[in-house]
Amino acid sequence: MLAVTVRDLWEACLRLLFPVPCLLCAGPLASGASGQVCGPCWAALPRLPAHGCAACGRPFAPVRAAPDEAGHPGDSHVRCGACQRQRPPYELARAALPYGDTGPVKPLVLALKHGHRQALAAPLARVMHAAAAERVDLMAFDALVPVPLHRRRRRERGFNQAAALADGLGRAVGRPILRHVLVRVRPTPPQAGDRAARRRNVRGAFAVSAPGAVREKRLLLIDDVFTTGATAEECARVLRRAGAAAVGVYTLARVT
Ligand SMILES: [Zn+2]
Ligand SMILES: [Zn+2]
Repeated sequence: MLAVTVRDLWEACLRLLFPVPCLLCAGPLASGASGQVCGPCWAALPRLPAHGCAACGRPFAPVRAAPDEAGHPGDSHVRCGACQRQRPPYELARAALPYGDTGPVKPLVLALKHGHRQALAAPLARVMHAAAAERVDLMAFDALVPVPLHRRRRRERGFNQAAALADGLGRAVGRPILRHVLVRVRPTPPQAGDRAARRRNVRGAFAVSAPGAVREKRLLLIDDVFTTGATAEECARVLRRAGAAAVGVYTLARVT
């Protein structure tokens, strides 16, 4: 059957006449553009404050930071109230970008995740790599572990955005990516609700398929968004139980 329709031809003509605009500002894609975002929009992407809770990374007001003689911020060992009450199962969680209802980060993440814009993964991994300098020592980890999707969800979506980000980051730092070692054994509805509901939703959802690959390793879990940390905590717990020496978490964005 001839798959090309009048509509396809019309859309192809439109694309020739009116090139694809920037995903964020709808301006033209000139030099410096990548993943269908223009150079100025990439340059203007806001960053999450680099300093916050030593454990979960929750940003603190900058008033606490009095750099010591080595230039490290004074609050680098301070944990937020929640992490003081209960230490998370991960060593640290850090993120590059602020995720909110306004601003450019949410549309970028949604375009990557649901909009079939896989071309965004490479430039976003570069953003994570650049932001890591102030946030997390990538070389302190033996391997990167993307938060897995259940195979059914992966099939529907066509790719795993966390794995795509881990690929770019792993290549940049020369660290292996353990792709199929952490698996989602139970399909879960998308995370929603408060921390307790999110914890319940992911409880028992993950397993380690090859404990030998994680034993005594320092692993960096990679995901797109850190919301309450429930998914990261569950993954970290499962990896630690399988013998990982430590688990860090690095996400593209974090809900602020
Ligand atoms: Zn733009
Ligand atoms: Zn914390």
